[in-house]
Amino acid sequence: MRTFISEPSWDAVLDTCMCDKYNNAELTLTLKLAFKQVNPDSGAQSGTYHDYGISSKPARRIVRWTDAAWLSWKTSFVQSAERFWKDKFWLINNFSELRYEDSGVQYIPNIWCRFKLVESDVSPSFRHHHMIEVVRLDPSETWFGSHSKLYDSLDINSVRKGTDSNGNPIMQRAHVHEVGHLLGLGHVDEGRPHCPETNTNARPCYGVSDEDKNSVMGQGMQLRAEHANPWRRAMLRMLNRGNILTSSDWEAKRQRHYPRTLTEARDRRYITQKPART
Ligand SMILES: [Zn+2]
Repeated sequence: MRTFISEPSWDAVLDTCMCDKYNNAELTLTLKLAFKQVNPDSGAQSGTYHDYGISSKPARRIVRWTDAAWLSWKTSFVQSAERFWKDKFWLINNFSELRYEDSGVQYIPNIWCRFKLVESDVSPSFRHHHMIEVVRLDPSETWFGSHSKLYDSLDINSVRKGTDSNGNPIMQRAHVHEVGHLLGLGHVDEGRPHCPETNTNARPCYGVSDEDKNSVMGQGMQLRAEHANPWRRAMLRMLNRGNILTSSDWEAKRQRHYPRTLTEARDRRYITQKPART
C-alpha cells in the first residue's frame, strides 16, 4: 500500500509494499526545489550582489553562470544533500498500525526514513516547494551572506563555521544545514534561554556546547536523533494523529531496527540484529 500526502513544504509517501519479516515500511520525504540563477545586470559577465540580497549590506563580486557551471553546481547540490539526509533514521512503531502477515506470522513494521530531492530551473510547469536563488561568486570572493532562499556557489563547499572548546575548527557544508531548515528543523539551541525567540539566527542559537555546535543544525555536520522529527511529524499526518509529537511517538533510532512480531512489540523489544525467522 502506498499513501501520499502533500504539504506546502514537502511531499511524503508511505510505502508498505516491501514489508516482510525483515523489511520495514518506507517513508520518503520529497523536497522539490526550483533553482534560479542570479546573474549580473544587463547581460554583463560580472557585477555585484549584496549579502542576503539586502541593499544596505556589503556588495560582493559575482560572475555570470555558464550552462556547465550551473549544471555542475545543481548536480553536486542535489547528490550531496540527498546523500546526507537519506536513509539515516528508523522510527520505532509503538502502535498497532500497519500490521501485516508473513508466513502466517503477524508483524508490525518500523519506518525507514528515506529522502529525495527533485530540482528544476524555475518554470511554470514545475510545482516546487521552495524557490532558491543562487549567485555565482567571483573567484576572488571567499564569503557571501546567504540564507535558506538565497545561496551562493560556495555553499556546497565545506567551510569553517566555528571553533570548539579545544580550538579545533568546526566545518560545515552550508547547503545540508539549509536543507534541514527546508525540512522544518530549527537551529540546535532554539527554545533555550540563550537563544532569543525574536532572532533565532543569533550566534548562540547555533550551539554553545561542543556537542551542540557540532550538530548539523548548529555549525557542524553531525546528525542527531531529533533530526528525524520531519519524518516523525509526517507519520502523525499520515495516520491522522494530530500535530503533537510525544517522545514515544515514532521514536527515532540511528540504526536499522527490524520489524517486530506482536509479542516483540508488546514487550518493547528492539530488534537490531537480523533475526533468524523461520
Ligand atoms: Zn540556519
